[in-house]
Order: sequence, then structure tokens, then C-alpha cells
Amino acid sequence: MPPKSDRVSSTLRQEVASRANHRCEYCLSPDNFSPDSFTTDHIYPRFLGGKSTSDNLSWACFGCNGRKHIKTKGEDPQTHKAVSFFNPRTQNWLAQILHQSR
Ligand SMILES: [Zn+2]
Repeated sequence: MPPKSDRVSSTLRQEVASRANHRCEYCLSPDNFSPDSFTTDHIYPRFLGGKSTSDNLSWACFGCNGRKHIKTKGEDPQTHKAVSFFNPRTQNWLAQILHQSR
């Protein structure tokens, strides 16, 4: 269990959810239609030294958070190269999708 000072407070959790308009910041599914609870995802995993600060937290559904887990990169299915995961704090979701569809 993380030290108490590194836990996400309920106030910060609500701030992250509100900033994301209560949608998963990876797949955009709304949290009010999910049977599973959403969580604050550490964009840069706490396991690797990421902090529980607003700029390192995203709102994530159970599936996206579970698939990402403590990884920061995944394999591109087309090139088979390791690529960094989408970062909702520094990248624009729509621009990312439009870039991938070219
Ligand atoms: Zn998701």
C-alpha cells in the first residue's frame, strides 16, 4: 500500500473526474454507464516513481487502467515497435486518432 502522503485524496479524485468530464481519458467511455468503478490512473506509474499529483493523474475505466497497469509503452500492432502510451495531459485525443487514421 502506498504511503498515506502519496494516496489520492477524494478531493483530487473528484477534480480529476471533473476535468475529464467523467469519461475515461483513454477510451472516452462515460463513468455513469460503466458497471465497474473508475479510478485515478497514474500516467507515469507510481511503481516507477510517478507522483499522485494532478498533472500525473487521469480518469480511467477499469479496463484501460488494468491493461496499462505499470507499463508506459506498448507494441504498435502495425510496426511492432514499442511506442509510448497516450498521455492525456500532453496529447490531444482527437488529434491522435486523426493522425493514426492517415
Ligand atoms: Zn477506458
